[in-house]
Amino acid sequence: MKGISMSDEEYAKLLDRAFSKAHSTASESSDFVIPKVDAFVQGSKTQIRNIAAIADKARRDSKDIARYISKELGVPVNAEESRLVISGKFSNDDLDKRIKRYFETYVICKECHKPDTRLESASRGMFYLVCEACGSRYGVKNY
Ligand SMILES: [Zn+2]
Repeated sequence: MKGISMSDEEYAKLLDRAFSKAHSTASESSDFVIPKVDAFVQGSKTQIRNIAAIADKARRDSKDIARYISKELGVPVNAEESRLVISGKFSNDDLDKRIKRYFETYVICKECHKPDTRLESASRGMFYLVCEACGSRYGVKNY
């Protein structure tokens, strides 16, 4: 399970957050779990093979996630069929961190912590994150 299981520290953090969320909202969707990356290195490239599932959870296009990962890692990333192909070798842990940050910034509403959001393009360099659950609308940095 190397690379897939989370560390005790991460798990504790997750529990912490789940606990505080349970107390701030009565909703069942507050136990939304950010999906883990299922990636493997082949030659000089890393492939994420469950990008469709991740994109589905995020309700985003996998090409948008590819663009984010590319920006974060500073390497080319291509969305191919149901996979993301990243130039360079990256560990599952490393990719998990990027995906987690993506969800926290661009998917999960910071007001109600639900993932029922969409991005609207705003002025250059900005998006609006629009929450369909609580109606929040706030600017986030474009990537
Ligand atoms: Zn919300």
